Amino acid sequence: MTTAMNDNNVKAKCAICEKPVAAAYRPFCSKRCADVDLNRWLTTGYRVHTDEEPDPGEPIPIDLENNP
Ligand SMILES: [Zn+2]
Repeated sequence: MTTAMNDNNVKAKCAICEKPVAAAYRPFCSKRCADVDLNRWLTTGYRVHTDEEPDPGEPIPIDLENNP
């Protein structure tokens, strides 16, 4: 695992418009692009399925025969 923390020499690009990233808005170049990404994430990635509820009362099957 190699982690290079010295991003002083790294020209990071904005994840939205690929302009140079501003330190205050990393990984974006501006608040506008940060908002764009946030909205994109909210509309495409954040979905709640309320019609699918797992039963928390369901017992977990334990195979006692595998215990020594
Ligand atoms: Zn941008």
